[in-house]
Amino acid sequence: MKIAICPGSFDPVTNGHLDIIRRTARLFDKVVVVVMSNYFKKTSAFTPEERVELIKRVTADIPDIEVEAHYGLLADYAAQKNAVAIVKGLRAVSDFDTEFQQALANKKLNGDVETVFLTASGENMYLSSSVVKQICEFGGDISEFVPAEIREDIEKRLRKDLKI
Ligand code: ADP
Repeated sequence: MKIAICPGSFDPVTNGHLDIIRRTARLFDKVVVVVMSNYFKKTSAFTPEERVELIKRVTADIPDIEVEAHYGLLADYAAQKNAVAIVKGLRAVSDFDTEFQQALANKKLNGDVETVFLTASGENMYLSSSVVKQICEFGGDISEFVPAEIREDIEKRLRKDLKI
């Protein structure tokens, strides 16, 4: 069974992430989506557990998927899961430098796992969790950027005008 890992901060999950997760599920037998909780900072909008719950809700229709949070090295996590690939989405040239560096570091730490890059779909090229958070915070419409099932959760958490 070929297992792929989709890692990220997913704070919160967007249509861009979901596109990569769905395309990965078509290429591999099983997908493990991992919220890397090392990235959890005081400024994060959602806790790692909340992010896992949001991802589970929007991927419920995908067979053979597992979603969890992890604190530690991705290379070790990939070994634990017997994964053959780490799948990342590439939006623009700006993603390339850090992604290339991370892929080489992960290869050094775990020679058994390959990093695979999928190009972002045209309509998601500009999309990131931070863009969603900024638009939402000031009352903008995020319905085109995030799955419908979780839009309200994101608005409740982030919209300044909805806060008491
Ligand atoms: P961000 O916080 O920048 O939205 P994450 O760290 O959560 O991203 O990203 C997890 C993975 O998803 C990374 O491989 C990232 O390149 C990819 N990704 C994020 N947004 C998109 C998008 N709009 N289209 C394709 N891939 C994306």
